[in-house]
Amino acid sequence: MGIFFGDVHCHCGITYGYGSLENALESARKRLDFCSITPHAMWPDIPEIDQFNRYLVTYHKEAFDRIGRNWESVRKTVEEANDDGRFVTLHSYEMHSSFYGDHHFVSPDPSLELIYGKSPAEVAARSRCDLVAIPHHIAYPSGYRGINWDEFRSDISPVVEVYSKHGLGLNDAGYREYYHTMGPRDGRNTAYVGLRRGKKFSFGASTDHHAGFPGSYGDGLIAVEAPSRTRKDLWTALKAGRTYAVTGDRILCDFSMGSLRFGESGAVDGRALIHAAAKASDEIARMVILKNLRPLAIYDSERDGLPHSCEGPYKIRLELGWGDDKEKGFEWDTSVRCIGGKLKGYEPCICGRSILSPSEDMKQNDNINRILFNASLTDDTFSFAVETYKNISPLHPQTSSAVIEVEGDKDTVLDFSINGRTERHTIKELLETSICGEVLSYASCSYKIHRAVPRSLYEVSMDIEDGGASGDFYHMEVYERNGHAAFVSPIFLL
Ligand SMILES: [Zn+2]
Repeated sequence: MGIFFGDVHCHCGITYGYGSLENALESARKRLDFCSITPHAMWPDIPEIDQFNRYLVTYHKEAFDRIGRNWESVRKTVEEANDDGRFVTLHSYEMHSSFYGDHHFVSPDPSLELIYGKSPAEVAARSRCDLVAIPHHIAYPSGYRGINWDEFRSDISPVVEVYSKHGLGLNDAGYREYYHTMGPRDGRNTAYVGLRRGKKFSFGASTDHHAGFPGSYGDGLIAVEAPSRTRKDLWTALKAGRTYAVTGDRILCDFSMGSLRFGESGAVDGRALIHAAAKASDEIARMVILKNLRPLAIYDSERDGLPHSCEGPYKIRLELGWGDDKEKGFEWDTSVRCIGGKLKGYEPCICGRSILSPSEDMKQNDNINRILFNASLTDDTFSFAVETYKNISPLHPQTSSAVIEVEGDKDTVLDFSINGRTERHTIKELLETSICGEVLSYASCSYKIHRAVPRSLYEVSMDIEDGGASGDFYHMEVYERNGHAAFVSPIFLL
């Protein structure tokens, strides 16, 4: 079994987002295992036009008309991008609904039709294709495109999107609140409340990006556990809810109880072993096993992780960006050479342009999502080229990074070449501090070589025993020191 990361809810210029479909698919292919580009297709109970919503209602209707005309060519382009075994595409479209909350329908079937139903259930019933209806940005208020738990159906919605560019809809207290123009999250519409009300579903995340950059770092990814990276296997696992949500970093998680794995329902015999493990991209600050939403076991790095071993392998992030130019991207050309050690892998954390909905002053721009990204790895050299943009605010980064995994010891040397600048550091130095530099002068683009994180801090596991009864459910949450998290789907006891 492998863990595969994708984005099944990402918008572009085929409806009211920005950037071409072709660019979106091409960039996804380089960074993700699978993806779906989602046109906005319908809003059966769209509000009547009034003095406040004229622009909003108009751009929605215009987009729905346009996808109605272009659906066939969109499907064809998405289908042609499917490269089974390497990069999988899925078909999808989105229904807004004031009453039921917004959903995106995802299907492996290239004959997926746009069905103009009044509810997600009606679309699912009338569809001749295999599909799921994934509720998203669930924590908006009911009647205002947040989830309607009274109408929720696990059979058509095995997965709920609990995190996206809108924020975190898992619970009301967790980081991050919703700050889009659609308003704050309502505590009554979170995933925790759905679970408390006895609804059964798995967790997923996707970006809901509106500038055609699937998997834009920090906006959410869905992790799927499947035997291979084929459409058939990924779809079977997604439909079965063998998924979890990550906010940005590709945290590898393992969570089981007896013979049941995350996302599964079943019975356990008496007391059963619960196994929880995570391999993260940064130090794991906390890992929590929850039973019926209450903590059952907690790993806390400040309590349990120290004193830790500084033995390798190590994870080191090279973060690039900053600068002061809003419009123009900055092209990075970097490499890292490893001396006295071996490079084992890398993880791309690449940011697209940050857009969540259209605005009157913004024109269509097909190439807004044509963002340079190339990476390659050998045993001793990692090459990384990427384009970055100015941070939106000091609390809203637009940086991109790559996390490399280095096998070696404290004397291993990393030789960085960053747009002509050289940085040469031992792991011993990087275990103590990060290193930053500016490319040109004050307020120019900058880089940061993050501190080295040893395996004992980024890889954690817990094994406990518990005797659950029918109706109990268990899930896992993992929090990295840098704020990123994984929310691993519940195991439901029958
Ligand atoms: Zn959307």
